[in-house]
Amino acid sequence: MSDCIFCAIVAGTAPAQIIDSDERTIAFLDINPATPGHTLVIPRRHHTDLLEIDDVDLAACTSAARRLALRIEDRLDAEGFNLINACRPVAWQTVFHFHIHLIPRYSDDALKLPWVPRAGDPAEIARVADLLGDPAAADGE
Ligand code: AMP
Ligand code: ZN
Repeated sequence: MSDCIFCAIVAGTAPAQIIDSDERTIAFLDINPATPGHTLVIPRRHHTDLLEIDDVDLAACTSAARRLALRIEDRLDAEGFNLINACRPVAWQTVFHFHIHLIPRYSDDALKLPWVPRAGDPAEIARVADLLGDPAAADGE
């Protein structure tokens, strides 16, 4: 897509610190890193978001993220990882070419959960489960 910064990185017409690539994906360092080694894994083909990407490219991005997590653990001594995907503006997406944030975690980093965990209402959780459940799966079919 012509006005997409990530497509420009794939094409080599915009700069990036590319650290990994394969037939379907490339990975480069985020210019606003949450922690050292914060990486974006993207498909070479333009897909807008999680709801639009096909399963094959999604699987390729997920595999690349895991491959890089192992490398970042080894080379930066990361102790854990968060994988984050923002899908659509309401969920904080700002670049509309699908990407997985691979964020290395260190015991002394400053990142916090973006929500305050607190107990939910079991009746409300059950109501939502009714809305979302697959009746065929529940019947064991
Ligand atoms: P999101 O808000 O989830 O869509 O994430 C977009 C991410 O892309 C942000 O973390 C930005 O810092 C990052 N970003 C935007 N432009 C570039 C670029 N040219 N090179 C590397 N990272 C970028
Ligand atoms: Zn793109």
